[in-house]
Amino acid sequence: MREPSALPARERLRADVERLAVPRHPVTSPEALRAAEDHVAGELGAAGLRVERQLFRWGGREYHNVLGTLDGTDPARPWVVIGAHFDSVARSPGADDNASGVAALLEAARLLARARPPATVQCVAFNLEEIQNPFGALRLGGEVHALGSFRIGSRAYARRLRDAGQAVAGALVLEMLGFTGPVQRVPATVRLLAKVPRVGDFLAAIGDTRSRDLLAAFSRAASGLLPLVPLTVPLRGWLAPDVRRSDHARFWDEGYPALLLTDTAELRNPHYHRASDTPETLDYDFLTRATEAVVRCALELATTR
Ligand SMILES: [Zn+2]
Repeated sequence: MREPSALPARERLRADVERLAVPRHPVTSPEALRAAEDHVAGELGAAGLRVERQLFRWGGREYHNVLGTLDGTDPARPWVVIGAHFDSVARSPGADDNASGVAALLEAARLLARARPPATVQCVAFNLEEIQNPFGALRLGGEVHALGSFRIGSRAYARRLRDAGQAVAGALVLEMLGFTGPVQRVPATVRLLAKVPRVGDFLAAIGDTRSRDLLAAFSRAASGLLPLVPLTVPLRGWLAPDVRRSDHARFWDEGYPALLLTDTAELRNPHYHRASDTPETLDYDFLTRATEAVVRCALELATTR
């Protein structure tokens, strides 16, 4: 295996955030959602990954996750998965949520493609993460969707991975990696589990009990790069539902080790799900360091498992 020949480039991260940061929602801005899908597919292909679009249906329409595969030299090793959702809520440009995570995904793909680790790495951009409706029927595009219809893209991906019997060393789910700020709120349920700083300058890494080794690996990777708050939650997070609010929960539900890596969303970022979630509000040094931690962790998983 070669060493990565470069560090994450702040300029490339910023360029991808700016390219993606327009509302991209399946009902209110479907063209922009498709343009984001095309951008991700193009960048993963340009980085040298094998790109496929994973079809799934929802609400009578067809959507795709974008899968970029970096085939390992040793197919017996468990895969490493890195994922980030590329859709946004309606009317928000979603720079932090989640252009920042997608930009980190693309930059990690570029660096890992240069490193050529022995295990296969799959970089996945999830569609329709923001469709989250655990509490009742949802009206969308004139159609009513039933209870439990949420995180559609990652559910399709994780189920198919499980159905294929694919072993996974760990999934790193990137959900908002770009915002730092002076105020950090901490939900009471999380306060029971960990001591969390009141300044919003850290990255949170959240795993379930099955993901302890993975969380330890990520903590090593982040060491010296940026402040990290690692958190292990019991019972796949059901006691503190705040910690289930992204695509990683779909991996937990399928029995895979997975981490949510996040700047903690609205607990820190006042622009969350608003029109003001724009590229100039982000901390690109923080995003660059978070990306480097992801690359380091993926390399460790892809060489030692
Ligand atoms: Zn999100």
